[in-house]
Amino acid sequence: MRTLVLNAEMIPTAEVPVTEALTKVFLGKAYTVEEHPRIVFRSPGLTIAAPVSIAMFRYTRLPASFYGRAALTNENLFLRDGDRCLYCLRTRKELYEAGLRLTREHVLPRSRGGPDHWENVVAACQACNCRKGSHTPDEAGMPLQGRVWVPSVGRLHRLRMDRRIRGLHAAE
Ligand SMILES: [Zn+2]
Repeated sequence: MRTLVLNAEMIPTAEVPVTEALTKVFLGKAYTVEEHPRIVFRSPGLTIAAPVSIAMFRYTRLPASFYGRAALTNENLFLRDGDRCLYCLRTRKELYEAGLRLTREHVLPRSRGGPDHWENVVAACQACNCRKGSHTPDEAGMPLQGRVWVPSVGRLHRLRMDRRIRGLHAAE
């Protein structure tokens, strides 16, 4: 298990093995933000929940890369769009159950010069992607149900953390 490390401003900065996270807590350098709902560590006289995330007490400078634009990969795109199709709003899980998966969809189609940039791509299920074809959302009568934006590396880290915490609780 790995633990997310937040800086003093609650911005995710790293992931470390859970034992390393516990050491930081024991040394008084960090505190637990979110505990794992099930995993605990036991030693004589002490039971402690595994930290899903910890926050450092001391302020440290963030690497400049945190503010930079995130790489456009399908996984990053699905993360930005909340793991759902931005046309029909079905979640990844619902799509999976329907035998469909998420794809990268170009709002202005590539065949019409649409660039492969954050500002022109959304997560869309195979059904919506196919139905929209080489049309714009207007032409296809398929309005976008979400905003298209350029995420920073740090912003995606935070979304990834939220997703992980949601996943932990969903599994309870
Ligand atoms: Zn869809």
